[in-house]
Amino acid sequence: MKKFFTYFVLAALCWTGAEAFAGRDVADGYRAGMIPRFVRYVQTDSMSDNDAEWMTPGQANMYNILFQEIRAFGFPTHLSSDGYIYVNIPSNLPGGRQTPVLGISAHYDTTPEINGVDIKPQVIARYDGKPIRLKNNHVLSTDTDPYLRRMVGKTIVTSDGTTNLGADDKAGVTIVVTLLQTLAENPSVSHGPVQIVLTPNEDVGRSAERLDLNYYHPDFAYDFDGGVDGETIIGNFSAERVVVTVYGVNGHQSYAAANGYLNAVAPLAYIIERVALNETLPNRSSGSQGYVEPNRVTYDAETNSYSADFRFRYFDKEDGEKYHERLKRAVLDAKDIYGVRIEVKTEKQYENVEYGVKPEALTLLKAAMKDASVTPQLKKERAGTTSAMIMAKHGFGGYTLFTGQNNPHAFTEWLSEEDMFNAYRVALNLVKHAALLDTQAEESL
Ligand SMILES: [Zn+2]
Repeated sequence: MKKFFTYFVLAALCWTGAEAFAGRDVADGYRAGMIPRFVRYVQTDSMSDNDAEWMTPGQANMYNILFQEIRAFGFPTHLSSDGYIYVNIPSNLPGGRQTPVLGISAHYDTTPEINGVDIKPQVIARYDGKPIRLKNNHVLSTDTDPYLRRMVGKTIVTSDGTTNLGADDKAGVTIVVTLLQTLAENPSVSHGPVQIVLTPNEDVGRSAERLDLNYYHPDFAYDFDGGVDGETIIGNFSAERVVVTVYGVNGHQSYAAANGYLNAVAPLAYIIERVALNETLPNRSSGSQGYVEPNRVTYDAETNSYSADFRFRYFDKEDGEKYHERLKRAVLDAKDIYGVRIEVKTEKQYENVEYGVKPEALTLLKAAMKDASVTPQLKKERAGTTSAMIMAKHGFGGYTLFTGQNNPHAFTEWLSEEDMFNAYRVALNLVKHAALLDTQAEESL
């Protein structure tokens, strides 16, 4: 069975502004509520933890608060045992007309890299442009942060300097919950089917790990976890953790010829030298170039083995294949030369979303941004977020959109109220424009 869609995005683009999207006023009515909501969310600690089996107590507290709040909006809402909150909004179009499914996500954990407990947000209205002195000598200044200069006269939020702010990604969560509130309170806003997910554990690289595709598997996915001013991440590193383990054989090395003792360090060193070439180390890589890095070597006494942990990073599939080919040959040769047993394990962490995004996703986004007077700033990043994790694990890609967060994972993290509001308007416009798309499913044998 083959299924494909026909999209009438052009119709949406030609549909002129104001009356077609009277919702612009609808959005304005929710602006004042966004900062209080954001402040409330960041005051609930929800750090994720690299060493946790899965859920931290803070995140559990957060998802309970969010679930209660969201459920009250009246849409079908599901809290999974793993702490994912799903909202599946059915189409309210005439006759229940179906359109491609729009997906919107954000993550409610905050990074374990920096203290995020007991956050005291400082709301600064009509920012005067002067340096902002936080505790512990942290300073926010327009000299070192050019984007802050654009905030003069506007509202920003900072931490008090003893913690981060948690705008990563409570800004995204604020946008998503405000969108849900808007749709619940304004049934006149037409929409097709919309799937929402709020995830845990993004900042420990695990937000897609227990995602349930029964509740979240949209045609077009947009993750609200990016920076400012229309930033849109349309591509990212594919990231793999490759672990090579060489098993030695126990015995006294002086009588190795007789007792079969085998050293494991030399073959591992040989493999590392063959795979991690100087020209593909991280310090030689920039732009869209990939890299290979052996970032850790460990010894396991129980199995008398040495392991090297490699990072493979690449935008281009061919680069990834090249790295793997190099590794394969080095391992085969090492087995031959040294006579040792070698194991290779590969774990895919991120995949470039470019491989799995439908081309119409960008057309739809541009239309939604245009209606919010936001200029798309398309970027590819040498990192990855939820969209890249979903791509690696579940094979469908999405874009990561701006939220108003600045300097994430730092004491000087701050939020632009204006950018957060604009991102919310883009989210609402995505819902409206997606409702104008048409779906025609055709089946062929
Ligand atoms: Zn984030």
